[in-house]
Amino acid sequence: MTFTSHDDLESIRQGIDKVDTAILELLAQRRSFSLRAARLKGAADAPSRDLLREGDLIADRITDALRYGIDASLVNTVWREIIDDSVRVQRQHLGRTEIDRRTLTIAIQGIEGSYSWLASRHFFAARGITEPIFVTSATFADAFAAVSAGRADVGMLPIENTTAGAISEVYDLLLESELHVIGDTRYRVRHCLLGIPGATVGGLRRIYAHPQAAAQCSDYLSRLDDCEVIVFGDTALSGREIARVGDPTVGAIASEEAAGLFGLEVLDAAVANRDHNYTRFIAVSPMPAAIPAGVPAKTSIVIAVGNHPGALVDALAVFTAADVNLIKLESRPIPDTPSDELFYLDFEGAVDDPAVAAMLDTLTSHVHFLKVLGSYPSRDLRPRPAPAASARSLRHAASVDQPASPAAAVGYRLGSRTHKGNNTVIEVGSIRLGEDPLVVIAGPCAVETWDQIMAAARAVKEGGGRLLRGGCFKPRTSPYSFQGLGFEGLEMLAEAGKAFGLPIVTEVTSPEDVPGVAARADVLQIGTRNMQNFSLLSAVGRSHRPVMLKRGMSSSLDEWLQAAEYILAEGNQQVFLCERGIRTFETSTRNTLDLSAVPVLMQRTHLPVIVDPSHAAGERSLVGPLARAAAAIGAHGIMVEIHPDPDNALSDGPQSLELDQFAQLMTSLGIGPAG
Ligand code: PEP
Ligand code: MN
Repeated sequence: MTFTSHDDLESIRQGIDKVDTAILELLAQRRSFSLRAARLKGAADAPSRDLLREGDLIADRITDALRYGIDASLVNTVWREIIDDSVRVQRQHLGRTEIDRRTLTIAIQGIEGSYSWLASRHFFAARGITEPIFVTSATFADAFAAVSAGRADVGMLPIENTTAGAISEVYDLLLESELHVIGDTRYRVRHCLLGIPGATVGGLRRIYAHPQAAAQCSDYLSRLDDCEVIVFGDTALSGREIARVGDPTVGAIASEEAAGLFGLEVLDAAVANRDHNYTRFIAVSPMPAAIPAGVPAKTSIVIAVGNHPGALVDALAVFTAADVNLIKLESRPIPDTPSDELFYLDFEGAVDDPAVAAMLDTLTSHVHFLKVLGSYPSRDLRPRPAPAASARSLRHAASVDQPASPAAAVGYRLGSRTHKGNNTVIEVGSIRLGEDPLVVIAGPCAVETWDQIMAAARAVKEGGGRLLRGGCFKPRTSPYSFQGLGFEGLEMLAEAGKAFGLPIVTEVTSPEDVPGVAARADVLQIGTRNMQNFSLLSAVGRSHRPVMLKRGMSSSLDEWLQAAEYILAEGNQQVFLCERGIRTFETSTRNTLDLSAVPVLMQRTHLPVIVDPSHAAGERSLVGPLARAAAAIGAHGIMVEIHPDPDNALSDGPQSLELDQFAQLMTSLGIGPAG
């Protein structure tokens, strides 16, 4: 087709717009049919997904499309999306939290015939699902991703084995993912030696085996003469491989079921070192499990506790006090801070039991971090009383208001004094903010150059400061102002901190950056402009780093405490507050430092409170007096901006102290210089 004039192109574009509008109208119409179907399905208690019908429907559309000259792959892609949307709409309407019982897609690591495959079939067959559909993945991470992305309804993953122990990668994935544990099962692993029909044990020269399977059959394998063990990534795959090669001198260690699937023979069924070899698998899903009243249940959680004597015992005492039976405790290093440990716990009871919800609530005040992985029915436990209320997460637990508490009436609870009487202590290395005498945080507004941050870090250390600050992601009011050096700046800040033995604080401005910033920074700062960026607050709430939450420049104390509650409700209990001045009618200072916030907050919350006189004043000559006033009024710490060359600073130069002025300030506070 050729275009003869601009008008032609315009009218063609109008034509396209019209067609698109018609497509949108039709999509809306299709959705309304889906909703009507959902109502019928709800009334008939029918499943919201019918994979057979979905397959037929797409095949029909492809046949129709051919008549219009439309490509099959386009139709396939578009209709998959349309159907997924329709399933979502229906599930939402039905409020379905349970998984459909007739058709189920299960993501596993490994192929058909693997132990994950066998355990899944066994687990779901007992729940009436006899023909599940499998999505097979090469790695555990891919299996998790398949469920998160909606390509599978559930995932089934091994978490521990009686001989090999914990499968740490799966523990780490559980921590990061938003999936819920909805069930667990112990599956008996029975390794067999397989060969192609006609093969004999004596005739084998090579045996393919998964490293763990080889370890679990080491006694038997070492007794075989003239036979080499070849490591293979997956038990079932090793079976499939020897079937493909068809060589009678090659065997594999896999299950009897794998022999059946691949047309192999069991050459020896007693090859494992131990007769009793079990692997525990967990089922994960985007939706929490529905636990019928009275059915015994188990809950899995992850906690991080302080790094001081008694911290773990304190946390565990909460279980004893609540008469809750702890079933399992597993520890793993925290990925970003390997010197600290995360503890994975399983206990009897479900989060929708008010007694359990209350216990978890109490637990928050004894831990640094808490994440509920899920509650699920468990067969080998005693029956439990029927739950009276529903509380699936800390956030839900928190919304079960205590009417008597004034804090609940203003929208926060975990942060309130009523919830926790003693002060929260923020632990960063040897620093105990909230308990130590005035903790000073100092550094430049923004990390600019290597020399600049090193000079500032030296001054902080020599002055007796405890933490080094420096912005790398700068949320500037104007888009034309210096925006910070990003991760490159963070690298410099981390190096400077390391050089002078100072933990570092830096601001994070978007939820996507949280994992990257948390990997390097010891404390995450949320700035005034982001105090009510709720997705950012939730994201830092899922991290294990302490969070410094600055006051919104026009926020009330209760709004501020509710913002802190977003972080606490996600699980991170290491939060402290930073008063940095608010907007008032007064224009003589950049902001008005609200010092009365300090004692008022201390009445309302157990979270430590520090003061930033630099951003309040906006002018370096006022920083000293305001800092001393903050110390006098009982702030747990102060944060000041310093710069080796404030006149040429890329941001907040006028309020930044020269390095020797910082040294004088520290002396006037009775702190520095450090010996
Ligand atoms: C900062 O600390 O450099 C900063 C940007 O502070 P605030 O968010 O309080 O303006
Ligand atoms: Mn600044």
